[in-house]
Amino acid sequence: MSTATRPRRVPFTRESVRYLGTKARGRSSLDSSLDVSELQRAPLREWLSVGELRRYQDVHAPSRGVRMCGVRGRMCRSARCARCSHRRAADVRARLAEALRAAPEIGPALVWTATVSHTPDRALGDVWAALDALLGAVAHRQWLTRNVGGYARLLEIEHTPEGWHVHAHTILVFGNDVPRSEAARTGERIVARYLDAADRLGIAADASGQDVRPFGLSAAVGYVTKSHMTTAPTSTPGTLTPSMLLQRAARGDATADAMLAEIDRASRGRKLFALGGMLRGARHERRPRFQK
Ligand SMILES: [Zn+2]
Repeated sequence: MSTATRPRRVPFTRESVRYLGTKARGRSSLDSSLDVSELQRAPLREWLSVGELRRYQDVHAPSRGVRMCGVRGRMCRSARCARCSHRRAADVRARLAEALRAAPEIGPALVWTATVSHTPDRALGDVWAALDALLGAVAHRQWLTRNVGGYARLLEIEHTPEGWHVHAHTILVFGNDVPRSEAARTGERIVARYLDAADRLGIAADASGQDVRPFGLSAAVGYVTKSHMTTAPTSTPGTLTPSMLLQRAARGDATADAMLAEIDRASRGRKLFALGGMLRGARHERRPRFQK
């Protein structure tokens, strides 16, 4: 259920600019000067193989780590690597399932999806910073882990006709002594706290863009770990996923190439995967062999 009560469009305030560490005007997105409409319209009839994508990434991947993947047999393990991202997603899925199995006291589960409003010309880094600020405000002083048993969060990046869209899928689990109705109420309080933080920080986040709903655990694990660089194209018209951009870029599309570079820049220092509470045992990004 979404708490669809208060649509809001709030400009960045001085306070939120200080909080986010972004410039007052916001950096404009690299692709705002490029025409992405053709990229959004043109269908991809053939899907390039991992080998073909890798030949492109060996030379053109924005990250040196990804470019060097496979050299002397060393895998980069990056979420943006055509060769490694699939294995990485499977690994996250397995670790999450393992953590859930290891916690037999788990009761109801919810999936909470958090977004900030679309702004066509805003840089991905700014959109991501705004989302992270709101997620941080919800979790502030362990509020989140005091109110749920545990959580696992994955970030997803898309480009839509309204601009960059970063959203967070969070599995929330509760103890088996918690009734479903209480878990549902906690889910609503989490969304309310998120929207209050948006108001306070002057970050545009529509109530209609937030969602929290009950989910079976195994379905939830599949849902939050569904995307990687070899995921098939999305059926949402006009929506470009990183995997679709890689397909385009590998065919020589300069716009897709620039957008991948923007994703790479924006990803630095940002977490794609986080665990808390009783699911912390499945910590994944702390392991040195993995890169973000
Ligand atoms: Zn790799």
